Amino acid sequence: MEPNSPILLILDLDETLIYASEQSLGWDEDFVVGSYSVYLRPHLAEFLTTCAAGFRLAIWSTATDAYVRSVVPQILPPDIEPVFIWGRSRCVRSYNHEEFEEEYLKDLKKVKRLGYGLKRVLIADDTPRKVRRHYGNAVYVPPFFGDPNDDTLPGLANYLLSLRDVGNVRRVEKRGWARAEG
Ligand SMILES: [Mg+2]
Repeated sequence: MEPNSPILLILDLDETLIYASEQSLGWDEDFVVGSYSVYLRPHLAEFLTTCAAGFRLAIWSTATDAYVRSVVPQILPPDIEPVFIWGRSRCVRSYNHEEFEEEYLKDLKKVKRLGYGLKRVLIADDTPRKVRRHYGNAVYVPPFFGDPNDDTLPGLANYLLSLRDVGNVRRVEKRGWARAEG
């Protein structure tokens, strides 16, 4: 990959871009997938448009592939084509000994295999443990549980754009960005 090609920005879905609930929150959902009411995080379309202009964009969720395939076309502005859209089948299954349950992790080795140098890969996720193998690439996003007044995404877009020209994103301390942009 050429050295100054855009950063690959990998976005999580649930609690990062949307909130899906089997119970209605008491106001109209944006759409329904199976038994889930799906609520979009406020400012989502502008966020995705801004990110698509500044980065190569990808989506990676630990949810089932079928769910991801249903959700993504309903949230992406029409002219945006992510370089990949991945679900659970691309995650690594691991046993969490603290929670006594299986969990799915996102291992950026799979991205590296596509030819992306990890110095120029960012992964935005609300769940730090899912990206713990590559915390240097992670931007942790405060989780979204449907609050219609949530205003995280505009600040997140500003923050991500501030990293656009960084040669090695892994050298930048990224924790605490939300306080600085908030
Ligand atoms: Mg999530």
